[in-house]
Amino acid sequence: QNTNATFPPALDANEQILINSFDNTSISEWSYYYTHGNHIAGLNKTMAQWTADKWTEYGFTSRLDEYYVFLNYPVSQSLSLTYANGSVHTASLTEDVLEVDDTSSYPDRIPTFHGYSFTGNASAEYVYVGRGQQVDFDRLEALGVELEGKIALAKYGGPFRGLKVKNAQEHGMIGAVIFVDPGDDGNVTEANGIAAYPDGPARNPSSVQRGSVQFLSIYPGDPTTPGYTSKQDSPRADKSGSVPRIPSIPISWVDAQPLLHALNGFGTNGTAVNRTGWVGKIPGATYSTGVGSGARLSMSNIMDETYNPIWNAVGIINGTNEDEVLIIGNHRDAWIVGGAADPNSGSAVLIELAKAFSALSATGWKPLRTIVLASWDAEEYGLVGSTEWVEEYIPWLKTAAISYLNIDVAVAGPIPDFSATPDLHAVATSIMKKVIYPFHGATNHTLYDVWTSISGGEFGVLGSGSDYTSFLHRGIAAIDMGAGPGPNDPVYHYHSNYDSYHWMSTFGDPGFHTHKAFGQYLTLLAYHLVTDPVLALEPADYVPELRTYLTELESTISSAGSSNTTLDLTALTDSIDTFSAAAQDFNALREQALSADDTELLTFVNHKARDFSRGFTSQGGLPGREFFQNLIFAPGLDTGYAPVTYPGITESITFEGNWTAAQEWVGRTAKAIEVAAAILST
Ligand code: GLU
Ligand code: CA
Ligand code: ZN
Ligand code: ZN
Repeated sequence: QNTNATFPPALDANEQILINSFDNTSISEWSYYYTHGNHIAGLNKTMAQWTADKWTEYGFTSRLDEYYVFLNYPVSQSLSLTYANGSVHTASLTEDVLEVDDTSSYPDRIPTFHGYSFTGNASAEYVYVGRGQQVDFDRLEALGVELEGKIALAKYGGPFRGLKVKNAQEHGMIGAVIFVDPGDDGNVTEANGIAAYPDGPARNPSSVQRGSVQFLSIYPGDPTTPGYTSKQDSPRADKSGSVPRIPSIPISWVDAQPLLHALNGFGTNGTAVNRTGWVGKIPGATYSTGVGSGARLSMSNIMDETYNPIWNAVGIINGTNEDEVLIIGNHRDAWIVGGAADPNSGSAVLIELAKAFSALSATGWKPLRTIVLASWDAEEYGLVGSTEWVEEYIPWLKTAAISYLNIDVAVAGPIPDFSATPDLHAVATSIMKKVIYPFHGATNHTLYDVWTSISGGEFGVLGSGSDYTSFLHRGIAAIDMGAGPGPNDPVYHYHSNYDSYHWMSTFGDPGFHTHKAFGQYLTLLAYHLVTDPVLALEPADYVPELRTYLTELESTISSAGSSNTTLDLTALTDSIDTFSAAAQDFNALREQALSADDTELLTFVNHKARDFSRGFTSQGGLPGREFFQNLIFAPGLDTGYAPVTYPGITESITFEGNWTAAQEWVGRTAKAIEVAAAILST
C-alpha cells in the first residue's frame, strides 16, 4: 500500500545520481572488509587508515585524529559455582567457534568480558537481581533480601549494563554476573522449535553479550578526562566515580542455567517478585531470588589497564559557507572480529555514501555547506572517540555545526527506527518518501510507508548509547537511525561473535538490500542538509514536543506527589509560549527572505536555525552530572539508554523526591527555553 507517498518516488537529477550510485554488491564488499579483522578500540589503525584512504579516493580530504585514552583489555576471566553440597561446576565463558563465521582463522578471538570492568576476584553467595535497575533493588530490599557482601546475578535488558553493576556496587555487593536471556528473543526461539544459529535464526545458546560497564549516565568519554580532551600529556582525573569498583563478567544463557537452577525454590519465586522483565525463559529456571540456597560463586576478572592511542578517521568536503558544517558519524571499533551489524553495517554504508558524493561531484556539484565524515574509535568503551573529538573541537562545533547524523547499527533486521531532535523531524520524514525500502520480500514501499505503518510515524527521543550523545549535549541537532529485528525476525546476536558477515549475509540482510536503502536515505538526508538554500531545520517543531513533555511531567508529578507537595510550572509553560511565538516570528522572517529573494537575510535566518538549540544547554549541566548539559532531554540516571525529558525537573522528583530542587529546575529549564527563543527572535 502506497497511500502516503508517491511510488516510485519522484527524484530530481542530483537525487537520482546519488540513489543510483548505491550498489548492494559493493556494500557487501565493504562489509566483508570490515568484518574480517580485530576491531577492538585502539588495536586497529589499519582499518582507520583504510577508511580515510577510501574517503580520499572519493574526493574527501581525510586524516586520522589521535587521542590517548584509558582502556583495559582482557587477560583472564573465570567463574565457578559451588553447590551447597560442595560440588563444583565451572562456567565455560566461551562462545562456540563456528567454521561458517570464519572466526576459526583468527587466533586472537576476543574473550567474553566487560570493557572498563574492575580487576578483581569475588567469592560469595549470590542473589538474582532481575534486570538490576534501582526499582529491582528496591523490591529486593522490600522483600528483606540481604545484598551486602553478595554477588549479583543479573539479566540483560532494560538499563545500560554498567548501571546494573553500579546499582549492585551501591548496595554493597562485591561482584556482578550478567546473562543474556532467550526470553528477550521474541518468538524466534529454540523453545518454539526454531533451530539456533548457524542452522537457523534462533539464538546460539553459547552467545554472550560483551560490552562496556562504564557508568554512562554520569559522563561518557575517557573516564580519566571528564569534560576535556585526552592528549598524551593531558592531566588525568580520578575515574572511580564513572567506572565500577567491583568485578563483573558477562555470560551466555547456557552458563546461566545452572546458576539459576541452584537458586530454584529459595527466597521468593520470580513470578511472586512481580517486577518488569524479572522472569525470562531459560528452561527450568524459576528466577527465584535465591536467599538461603547456600550456593556460592567464585569469579575472577583480570584486565590489563593501559593508555593507548585511538584513531578517528575524519573526511571533509568544504562547502561554500564555511560556518555551516554537517557531521555524519559512525563508530568503527567492535568487541569482536565480525561486528557485521554493530558497527559495520553503518561503516559499510558510510563508504558507499562517500562514493555517491564522488559521483555527484563528478558532475561539478559542490556543497553549499561543509560535510564532515567521522569514523569513531572506542565507541564501545563509552563513546570515547566521539566525545574526545567533540571536547577538542567544541568551539568550532558550537559556532558552525548545523546537525550531527549518527549511523551505528544501520541494519540488524528489517524494522526501521529513528530518534531525533524535533527540529530534524520534518526533513527526516520528507526524505523517507524518496527511498524505496525492501520489507519482508516486498519492494513496492517507500521507507516512509514502512516506518509509518510500524511506528505510527513517531520519532524516538534521543537518550544515550551511541555517538550522538556529545553533540546533543552541546545543543547540536542530532538524529540516530537504523533497522532492527521484530519479534518474528532472525535473532540479532548483539556484541557476540555471531554478529558475523555470515550471519548478516544469511539471516540479517541477505543481498544487503536494507543496507542499500539506509545508505540511500542517509545520503539524501545529508545532501539536502548541505545543499538546500533554506537550512532544513524546523524550530517550530519543538513546540508540540515541548508541550507533550510537559504533559508527561505533569503526570510524573501527580503520581509522585503527596498532598503537601506542589510544583509551580508557570515559568515553564510561559517559556514554551515565548518559544512558540519566537518560532512563528522566525517562520515569518524566513518567508520574507524567500519571497524577497534576499540571500543575506536567508543566511541570517539559517544561522538562527543552526544556533537556537544551543540555548537548551546549561553550562553547569544536570544535578551531579555536569557533562549532560541539555535541559530538554538526557539519558535517564538509572536507564543509561532510555531518555528522560526535562531531566533536571523530572529526576529531582523521581530520584531525590526533592521538590525544592525540582522547583529550581523548573526555573533553569524555563530559562534555557527562553534563551533558545531569544536566539530565534533577535
Ligand atoms: N553502544 C555501546 C553499548 O551500548 C556503548 C555505549 C556506551 O558505553 O556509551 O554498549
Ligand atoms: Ca575527555
Ligand atoms: Zn555500535
Ligand atoms: Zn556496540
